[in-house]
Amino acid sequence: MKRQIRVGIPRALSYYTFFPMWKVFLEKLGAEVIVSKQTNRRILEAGIKETVNDACIPIKVFHGHVFDLADKVDYLFIPRMVSADGKVTFCPKFLGLPDMVRYAEVPIPEIIDIRYNLKGFPGGLLRFFFAVAKSIKVRNPIKIICAAVSALVVHKRYTRLMNEGLKPVEALEVVFGSRQRESYHRSGRSEKWLGGKRIAVALLGYPYAVFDPYISAGVYEKLVKLEVDVVTFEQIPNKQMRHYSKVLPQNFFWYYSNQVCWAGLYLLENKGIVDGIIHVTAFGCGPDAMVDKTLELEAKHAGLPFLSLTIDEHTGEGGVQTRLEAFVDMLWTKQARHRAG
Ligand code: SF4
Repeated sequence: MKRQIRVGIPRALSYYTFFPMWKVFLEKLGAEVIVSKQTNRRILEAGIKETVNDACIPIKVFHGHVFDLADKVDYLFIPRMVSADGKVTFCPKFLGLPDMVRYAEVPIPEIIDIRYNLKGFPGGLLRFFFAVAKSIKVRNPIKIICAAVSALVVHKRYTRLMNEGLKPVEALEVVFGSRQRESYHRSGRSEKWLGGKRIAVALLGYPYAVFDPYISAGVYEKLVKLEVDVVTFEQIPNKQMRHYSKVLPQNFFWYYSNQVCWAGLYLLENKGIVDGIIHVTAFGCGPDAMVDKTLELEAKHAGLPFLSLTIDEHTGEGGVQTRLEAFVDMLWTKQARHRAG
């Protein structure tokens, strides 16, 4: 019997936004999808060894995930992420990612390196799906179109679940049937929006930093433990965020940077949703140098407390915990003063 082709997907970068779509598409074409382990010290160290010193931590970690899969799969799925909206591109590191990985010194399997560029939707997307299928020797157009439709349906559901307040890991469990939707409450804003007396904080940053507990020193989980409602950019409906693309005199050139910034502007203008903003930013990230300053200035202008949390491979749990506790304490004090009038 012919062995199934095994395709590896690194649990990093675009994984947090697109994994269900990639997985369903590849499986419908008959491949077995293997995901790298959760980020850990070994993965990070393997990535650091093979990347330049000044690369950001998400790129270092991505390399570690690739090496974790290297001897387990026939192909590595590393699409060249160009544009998800046909207008702006991903950060240049995403664009060069397949080449960076290919020229590392560790031997790796063949890379499925197809441009993901939605310019000219739906043509761009269809071209992408057909090219991916061809790389694993599937040529039946009906099979490819059916797989693409299933992939898009699951992607839409996954996005909607995150919009409702589920973290990626929770949305994945619901989408792939290991948990029921009802077993998760809406996280984030609900109490606050219903006029409750809790603290709500916007945790803004790129999903591969915010939702990887190892990279971010568990900032999301720490806030939940401090009994804070957490709002991330995935919870802001796309239509409302897009409105803010017209507010800035100049938008950023990068997809995730715009999402983070628009979400920040939305939360600053719609007062009462959050009591403060935390921006998780990777040390050495070029785009974030601008995003962070923009958010800081806009938050100052709106009078909303702002904390910038820079992460790298030396970030310690203790330091993050202390800064979060101090920030949350300050928000409680501010709220108490406000109530006292
Ligand atoms: S946007 Fe920043 S953190 Fe993300 S990959 Fe690019 S340089 Fe790294």
